[in-house]
Amino acid sequence: MVSISPKPGILDIVPYVGGKSNLSSKRKIIKLSSNEGALGPTPLAIKAFDSCANSLHRYPDGAAENLKNAIGERYNLNPKQIVCGAGSDELLTLLCRSFAGTGDEVLYSEYGFAMYPIMALSVGAKPVKAPEKDLSANVENLLNAVTNRTKIVFLANPNNPTGTYLSSLEMSHLREKLRDDILLVIDAAYAEFVHEADYEPGFELVNQGENTVMTRTFSKIHALGGLRLGWAYCPQHIVDILNRIRSPFNVSRPALEAGIASFSDEEFLRRSQYHNDFWREWTKNELMNLGLSVSPSVCNFLLVCFNEKKSHSASSADSFLESKGILVRNLTNYNLPNCLRISIGLEEEMKILIDSLSLFLSQDTPVFGED
Ligand SMILES: *Cc1c(COP(=O)(O)O)cnc(C)c1O
Repeated sequence: MVSISPKPGILDIVPYVGGKSNLSSKRKIIKLSSNEGALGPTPLAIKAFDSCANSLHRYPDGAAENLKNAIGERYNLNPKQIVCGAGSDELLTLLCRSFAGTGDEVLYSEYGFAMYPIMALSVGAKPVKAPEKDLSANVENLLNAVTNRTKIVFLANPNNPTGTYLSSLEMSHLREKLRDDILLVIDAAYAEFVHEADYEPGFELVNQGENTVMTRTFSKIHALGGLRLGWAYCPQHIVDILNRIRSPFNVSRPALEAGIASFSDEEFLRRSQYHNDFWREWTKNELMNLGLSVSPSVCNFLLVCFNEKKSHSASSADSFLESKGILVRNLTNYNLPNCLRISIGLEEEMKILIDSLSLFLSQDTPVFGED
């Protein structure tokens, strides 16, 4: 008998399941399951990472000054309002630990990023879901779900896994109508992929008050997910809070160096954007030509929905693709069992994906297995 038990909430957590990453067989796989950035990182980031190899015994700069300065310069921000983390996941968790606890509620949107309820439960708070409309967060529904126990609203904008976004007007409206003592966390992990004129990643709302934070990541367009690097843009008092509770060397030196190098290669980042624009549009059209329904994504992935007929359901398509060595994300844990999330990869990868799906849909009884 185990006589120790964790704090309330911990055992209610259903552990996060990431995108599939490996198959038992040794053959080449096409990984479209984790939105990792089709082109990989810039060679400059790899070089910067390598340059750390001979000094791994040296601690990193715990204040991450150089990276914060690089971010500040790029976006015209005060570096003192930036906190870096081991992925934006760490920063989201630290915000939860700082502002919510037992008896509090943490609000998020129905198909919001799956880490939000996990983070809420990990600090003893209650995760509360607001219904969406047409696979998009809905400001009125979020506001209606606020209670006097609400402490934090987490909103991914644009959202993973739906790919949809709220306009800057809708975001301002949400902030305006939220009580001042509720922290609004805008998780803008995919901001660099969005070109829509009515989108704003969150800088303005952070600047306008004392109760909004925007988080960003190096895992998506920068394609450095394996290194764990993210940052938050915050009002000064929140920076002070996060700096109290984060561990002093929370970001490794190779991550800091690679992050700075990645930021410096604007040409590469633009190329990644163009690549995504082009192949997202191409893939979307091909999928629609196959008769599938595709949500209007502004990110580096598409949400694709299948019909419920068993032989050609999303889960059957998932298994079929896996049998061909193509990994995509099934969304049963998001309560979207009829849909798959497919990351935008390289040209060749997208063409193989479409050929495979076309084959799948053309067979009355799909034949699984390698070609
Ligand atoms: C990928 C992702 C993140 C996490 O990014 P890390 O910086 O790798 O921790 C956060 N939010 C959303 C919505 C994401 O899709």
